[in-house]
Amino acid sequence: MSVTYLPLQAWNKHWQLDGQRVRCRLCRSVQDLTQASAFTHAPYCKARTVEAQYPSRELATLLQQKIRLGLF
Ligand SMILES: [Zn+2]
Repeated sequence: MSVTYLPLQAWNKHWQLDGQRVRCRLCRSVQDLTQASAFTHAPYCKARTVEAQYPSRELATLLQQKIRLGLF
């Protein structure tokens, strides 16, 4: 049952919500939650991956899962 909380914890390890924006915890780059484009890290950021990252989309999916499971 605690398993359902893990995805959000994992998300929180890399990202941080700041009002309407999502921030990379490593490079402090921010992106507006409503922005549909891939997240842009600082060039030196170790959290950068080859694949494009969509933290706000991931968060939305996680929250929808929680709502569906009745956790909210
Ligand atoms: Zn970063």
